[in-house]
Amino acid sequence: MKRPSRASSPARPGALPAPRKRFGQHFLKDGRVLESIADALGDLRGRTVVEIGPGRGALTDLLVERAERVVAVEIDRDLAAHLRTRYASRHAGRSQVEIVEADVLQTVLADLAGGPYVLAGNVPYYITTPIIFHALALPRPDCAVYLVQKEVADRMAAPPGDKTYGALSVNLQAVVNVEFLRKVPPGAFNPPPAVDSAVVRITPREQAVIEPELEARYRSFVLAAFGLRRKQLVRVVRTVASLDAERAGAVVAACGLSPEARPETLTPADFARLVRALQTQQQQPAAD
Ligand code: SAM
Repeated sequence: MKRPSRASSPARPGALPAPRKRFGQHFLKDGRVLESIADALGDLRGRTVVEIGPGRGALTDLLVERAERVVAVEIDRDLAAHLRTRYASRHAGRSQVEIVEADVLQTVLADLAGGPYVLAGNVPYYITTPIIFHALALPRPDCAVYLVQKEVADRMAAPPGDKTYGALSVNLQAVVNVEFLRKVPPGAFNPPPAVDSAVVRITPREQAVIEPELEARYRSFVLAAFGLRRKQLVRVVRTVASLDAERAGAVVAACGLSPEARPETLTPADFARLVRALQTQQQQPAAD
C-alpha cells in the first residue's frame, strides 16, 4: 500500500487552480448545505473528524471550528498545498489540522484517525461506492456523513421491494443504518454537477446481520444474486452456489424463505441466513 505523503509543500502563490474534472471537483458554495453536513455529524467537541476530499476547504472550515482534530485527505497536490497554507498554524480555530495528500482508497482511515472518529465527505462521484465500502473496514467510524449523487443516496437507503433496492442497499444495510437527510440541487456547487445530490448519514448497526468473517462472502453473494434479480430464489441459489435443484431447495427451505421469492424482496437478514446456510451446506460432504 502506497504511503500517504504528509510532507508539507510550499504554497503556490496566486489563484486557486481551476476545478479538475478528473478528480470529480464540484465545490460546495451553499452555506446552509455545508452547515447541515457538519450538523449531521453531531457534537464534535473533543472529537477527531476525517474528511475525504476537502477541496478548497469549504466544509473543512466548519469542521475546524467545531472539532478537536481534523485529518483531511486530498488527492489533488495543488489543493493539498493550498489547504496547508490555509491551516498553517496547525491549530486553526479550535482544531489541530492535518492535511494528507493521498488517494483515500490507498489509506487506512482508522490509522489516520488514530482512535475513535467520525467521517465526512462531499465525495467525488466517480468513486463514491468504493469510498463508502472502503470506510466500512473495521474499526468503523462512529458516524459518516456523505454528500453523494441523489440516485446513489436513494439506492443506499432503499427498503426491500423498492424499485431502487439492490446490492448496494443490502450490503450497506447489513452492517450500518442509512439515513437520507436532504436533497441538494446542482446550484449548490461550483461548477454545478449534471445531477441532483443528497446528504446521507451512516451509523453502525447495533447488531450487524452478518458476522465480520462472513462479510466478504455475503457481499459477493448479494452482488451475484442481484445479477439475477428477476429470477426465483431457488434458481438464484442454484446458479450462484452451483447447487442442484434439490440442495438449493433445501437451503431456501431451511432459511424459511419462499422458493419463488426474488432477490429484490429479501431483507439483509434473509440474505445473511442464506449465506450461513450455504456455508454449512458447503462444509457437508456430498450424500453420494
Ligand atoms: N469538499 C469540497 C467541497 O465540498 O467543496 C470538495 C468536494 S469535490 C466534489 C471532491 C474532492 O475530492 C475534490 O477536492 C477532489 O480533488 C477530491 N478527490 C477526488 N478523488 C479523490 C481521492 N481518490 N482521494 C482523495 N480525494 C479525492
